Amino acid sequence: TTTSPALEIRGLRKSYGEKEAVKGIDLTIQPGEFYGLLGPNGAGKTTTLKMVVGLLTPTSGNISVFGVDNQRDPVAAKRQTAWLPDEPMLYDKLTPLEYLEFVAGLWGIDARTAASRADELLTRLELHEHRNERCEGFSRGMKQKAALAGALIHDPRLLILDEPLTGLDAAIARQVKDLLAERARAGCTIILTTHIMEVAERLVDRIGIIQHGQLLAEGTLAELRQKHGRDGASLEEL
Ligand code: ATP
Repeated sequence: TTTSPALEIRGLRKSYGEKEAVKGIDLTIQPGEFYGLLGPNGAGKTTTLKMVVGLLTPTSGNISVFGVDNQRDPVAAKRQTAWLPDEPMLYDKLTPLEYLEFVAGLWGIDARTAASRADELLTRLELHEHRNERCEGFSRGMKQKAALAGALIHDPRLLILDEPLTGLDAAIARQVKDLLAERARAGCTIILTTHIMEVAERLVDRIGIIQHGQLLAEGTLAELRQKHGRDGASLEEL
């Protein structure tokens, strides 16, 4: 519903055998928020996001996406959500346009809507002139842009990205950041993980710090620096 949070996580836990990767996370993100998850490698960020997008079943706890419990109604929750994994895979033999048409088909989007959304996304990401070239020859950045376009083709209300800017050259990182900021202004809720301080500083509204499977702190970067920056674990080390 319109008054529900975009994402509500309660008592979330996940164990891989003996290893407890996520140890009781509570997190609420409001519609339109741009939220950054920070934390060292192995902290549990990817595991948490995989549960949000329904790739992993929680050991315990609940996740709702716009008021829909994603275990009670996984299809409805997924329809609202997009997931861009760390180092996304593309079908190298497809062109960006074919890839977008393929993904749109999986979502059941009609051909006309798919064509117009693909056109808009490819233009917006400066991939339009490459739309009929196979992805196999693309740089990492161009592949990342094609994957991002694929994540956006069903017009998700909640966009989840794992390290979306890592390894991109400055020009492409700029294009991706601009597109994300534009989507956020248009009301899309965005959650990303990042190690890049400049992203945390300029792009996101609020940050959550995950360490050892728990949410250690939340706030704006300025608030977190004030509370935690001087003593203990430095934010810059995350
Ligand atoms: P990174 O930035 O390195 O991806 P992360 O914060 O996303 O780190 P996770 O990938 O969620 O952390 O990993 C949390 C813990 O769970 C780590 O100790 C990791 O080794 C373990 N883990 C993750 N996936 C699996 C799996 N499929 N099977 C077993 N253990 C796993």
